[in-house]
This record gives sequence, C-alpha cells and structure tokens, in this order.
Amino acid sequence: MIVLGIESSCDETAVAVVKDRKEVLSSVVASQIDVHKEFGGVVPEVASRIHVENISYLIEDALKQAHLTMNDIDAVAVTKGPGLIGCLHVGVQAAKTLAFAFHKPLVPVHHIAAHIYANELVTDLHYPVLALVVSGGHTQLIYMKEESSFEILGQTQDDAIGEAFDKVARVMDLGYPGGPKIDKLAKQGKNIYPLPKPKAKGKYDMSFSGLKSGVLQFTKRCARNHETYNDADLACSFQETALNEIFDKIRLILDDYPDIRHFVVGGGVSANSRLREKVEELKDEYPDVTFTVPPMACCTDNATMIAVAGTIAYEHGVRGDASLTADSSWEIQ
Ligand code: ATP
Ligand code: MG
Ligand code: FE
Repeated sequence: MIVLGIESSCDETAVAVVKDRKEVLSSVVASQIDVHKEFGGVVPEVASRIHVENISYLIEDALKQAHLTMNDIDAVAVTKGPGLIGCLHVGVQAAKTLAFAFHKPLVPVHHIAAHIYANELVTDLHYPVLALVVSGGHTQLIYMKEESSFEILGQTQDDAIGEAFDKVARVMDLGYPGGPKIDKLAKQGKNIYPLPKPKAKGKYDMSFSGLKSGVLQFTKRCARNHETYNDADLACSFQETALNEIFDKIRLILDDYPDIRHFVVGGGVSANSRLREKVEELKDEYPDVTFTVPPMACCTDNATMIAVAGTIAYEHGVRGDASLTADSSWEIQ
C-alpha cells in the first residue's frame, strides 16, 4: 500500500510517500527555522502563511522524487492535530482536496502517534510497548497494549522538555532552536552546577519549569555577584538534570509493568545524543526489553512518520470525509 503523508502542524511543511509502512519512496521537508529564529520562536500566523506558499510545491516534489503520480497513491494521510490551528488547516485542506479530486481514501493522523510510529521505519514494534514522547510540545510516557491503543501513564505537568531546552538556550543566548545547541555544548561540559531537582505530583509525571527557572536564577545570581560561569558546564548540568527526571520515571514504569516488551522514543528531543546514550544504558538493566530510537531524520517533524501512521490508521479502519477538520488539542486515544 502506497500512502502520501502531509505534515504542517508547526514550522515544518513536509510531504512523503511511503510503501507498506517501511519503504520511504520520497520525503521532503521545508523548515521555517531561519524565519522564526529572528523572533526566538515560532510565530503562528507567519508559519501558516509559509505553509500555504510551500505545500503545493512539496506535494509535486514528493511525487516527482518517488517517480509516481497521484494515480499510484492508495491513500492520503494528514496530521489532524495537535499543533498550531492555522498551520494544521493548511495540511488538512490540501489533503482533502487531493483525496477528493483523485478519489483516494483520506486518513487523519495524530501527530504524537506518528512520532511514535516513526520507529516502524527501523523495526517492527513488539507489544505491549512503552513509548517516550519528547518533543517541542509534549513529554509523555504512553503504554500501548497493542497497535493503535494509547494510554498516557505519565506526562509533564508544566513545560515540555523541548520547550525547556529552547528556553534555557535563550537564557544562555545560544540561539534557536536551542535543543541541538545545548546537546553539542553539553558534550564539552560537566554536571557540576546544583540545579533544582524537578518535583511532579503523579508517580510517573514529570516537571521542567522549576528546572528552567533554576537556570535563569543561576545566571542572574552570577551576573549580580559579578561571577562567571562555564556555558558548557551549565548546559551539561541542565541536560543531565532534565534527562534524569525522565529516565527515573521510565525505570519506575518498566519495574511496575513487567509485561512491556519494547521501549521506543519519539519526537524532536529523541535526536539528543545524551538521551540516546541513556537508552543504551537501559539495555543492560532490562535485557528482556527491546529498545529502539528512530532514525535521526525522523526525530523532528517530517511526513514519513505521518505516512507510516496513516498506513496503520488505515489498516485499523480510520477514514476522514468532507467534514474532516483540524483539532489543535486533539487527545491521543
Ligand atoms: P510536538 O511534536 O509536541 O507537536 P514539535 O513538533 O514542535 O512539537 P518536534 O519537531 O518533534 O516538536 O521537536 C522539536 C523540539 O526538539 C525542539 O524543542 C528542539 O529544540 C528539540 N530538539 C531537536 N534536536 C534536539 C537535540 N539534539 N537535543 C535536544 N532537543 C532537541
Ligand atoms: Mg519544528
Ligand atoms: Fe512534532
């Protein structure tokens, strides 16, 4: 089955064509980072307009690179949500137009489910799965008893981890997006600065806003006292504290749910090199569990993951019709 996927939930316009869940026939992404970095973050209205400008070209490019026409496509999948509402509408309208003009099934896709299913590109998932979603807007630990079933066991009660990386990078004047910059800088640093350890209420829940404020207060205190601090050490201390918060919760869940066979990661922060090392460490501690991280190109927003998730949703009978609309706060279920 050949599925064309469309993604426009935030600041990446992306289109991809994927055959039978695994074979990427084409994947094109137009990132708006260069536009939004001037503002230090995504400006929704600007993002929607750029999606409108780019989407038709990307659809053409994706088909051309796959050496296919719309006649060869079996279904059109699109991100319905969650995301920025104006941005989502662009992808949804484009997908509806394509599907109806070419008489193809239309499949709405949940963006976070797609981040998880990106792992299908490297392995078959063995259920029950524990999925860690770490992205710009989400930090969740999701139990999947079987394919297409999602139970949120824990999540951040305030900021998402990616958001915390970006905000800390802004405080440190490292530029946008901050995640990759902190990752790189932290490699040369040591975890030596005491930062507030996050405290979340629920057993598997997480928190990052106190840690983020802790970094801000630390830099202000240094400035007040005319002290200097080492950027790499601060990046490393922040990254280590944030990741430890997540990995403590992962261990609690893996201990409490011995039926979990497979652990996967999804979302932009799964590109983080220290996070990937920490997943490696878990392998020795839980030899009965399979551990998978998605390929680097499929960590941040892309449309291959939308096409893969669309294929799975299609197989589970999910269809969209003319009433399909974007849902900015769509809950995973
Ligand atoms: P969501 O998926 O929740 O809707 P989003 O789509 O905006 O949010 P993604 O594209 O999945 O988010 O991820 C973007 C985030 O990933 C940014 O916050 C960015 O800083 C972070 N990120 C990217 N690479 C790295 C890295 N190497 N280390 C840490 N964070 C990273
Ligand atoms: Mg993005
Ligand atoms: Fe995303």
